[in-house]
Amino acid sequence: MIILTLNAGSSSLKFNLIEMTNETTLADGIAERIGLPEGFVRWTIQGEKGRVEQDMKDHKDALQIIMDELSKTALKGRDVGGVGHRVAHGGSHFGDPMLITPKVLDEIEELSALAPLHNPANVLGIKTAMEIFPGKPQVAVFDTAFHSTIPDYAYTYGLPHEVCKKHGIRRYGFHGTSHRYVAEHTAVLLGKPLDSLKIITCHLGNGSSITAVDRGKSIDTSMGLTPVEGVIMGTRSGTIDPGAIIMLMEKEKLDAKALNTMLNKQSGLQGVSGFSSDCRDIEDSMATNDHSRLTFELLCYGIVKYIGSYAAAMDGIDAITFTAGIGENSPGVRACVCGRIKNLLGIQLDEEANASRSKENRLISKPSSRTAVCVIPTNEELMIARYTAKLVY
Ligand code: AMP
Repeated sequence: MIILTLNAGSSSLKFNLIEMTNETTLADGIAERIGLPEGFVRWTIQGEKGRVEQDMKDHKDALQIIMDELSKTALKGRDVGGVGHRVAHGGSHFGDPMLITPKVLDEIEELSALAPLHNPANVLGIKTAMEIFPGKPQVAVFDTAFHSTIPDYAYTYGLPHEVCKKHGIRRYGFHGTSHRYVAEHTAVLLGKPLDSLKIITCHLGNGSSITAVDRGKSIDTSMGLTPVEGVIMGTRSGTIDPGAIIMLMEKEKLDAKALNTMLNKQSGLQGVSGFSSDCRDIEDSMATNDHSRLTFELLCYGIVKYIGSYAAAMDGIDAITFTAGIGENSPGVRACVCGRIKNLLGIQLDEEANASRSKENRLISKPSSRTAVCVIPTNEELMIARYTAKLVY
């Protein structure tokens, strides 16, 4: 069976076509600048890269172009068995992946208040796929789901209880599919059952979150009500004193929209460095640019603090796992983080393994290290496809 996974953003649509019998990716790619001038779709099909420059008025246009290309090449007359959608926010009632019915779709739409940047785009992706594949099963996989096991004392904010209840204000966490995937693969790599391990999973990419996985269950995570909480990210601020927001409102006369833009789009690596949201640019220039040095240290120090607090939350840990763009590709960030906690956690980094550019799941600590350190490339699309296949058949 072939599963199509979709991850819709407000002006983009990422896709993966996965052959489930051997779990291989037949095609992946993205349509960008949907509804804007200079739109394009790029893809990789069986190792071959392709691209078409075409303006797309909406997501339906984009999916049509994608499917036209896939049916000529990767699908070769075969049919898609089901469509799996990445959905950012499942609120407190969506845990497991769900077959999408009109009621489920309404509920996802209602959750837009909690994820205004993400859920409306995800709903658009689902509606588009329903139009292009009428009657085909569609499955929603929620980014928040893995974190449904976080206990109340870890998800509650110290605000008036009634107000939080009224608006659903609490920690939900995100990147759940990725944290679950890398935790499972860490256990396989270490050759131990997942339910015997305490792991801290560090998903460090454009968006970053860190999760405490206690015997297979998420018990705390750095992102909160929204994906802006936690460590500094490409353009998101991460955790700041709420008092700073009040001050910005008063002194800079920022309203909710302007604050949202500042916290989500103009902060993080971009805001502190003043020139780039890309960790590669920061690392490349930090020897000569003090803003880059500060940005890099702020990032690593923030990660260190979460690891320390989650090691305390789980009363000790067995492993730390790095994943996503920075986690998988930056030996510098991994070395800086591990160097700062080597005595606390008895970490002995294998410098050669850390420096390697391998794309495989791997251990980057020495056998004598008290805490294992792993790099596991994440594969959220495969997880979404697996859940979809399970619900479709
Ligand atoms: P993701 O959101 O997981 O796709 O991660 C994207 C981010 O990964 C980019 O913005 C870069 O900051 C980071 N990244 C990718 N490759 C490297 C690298 N070799 N070194 C440091 N950071 C990297």
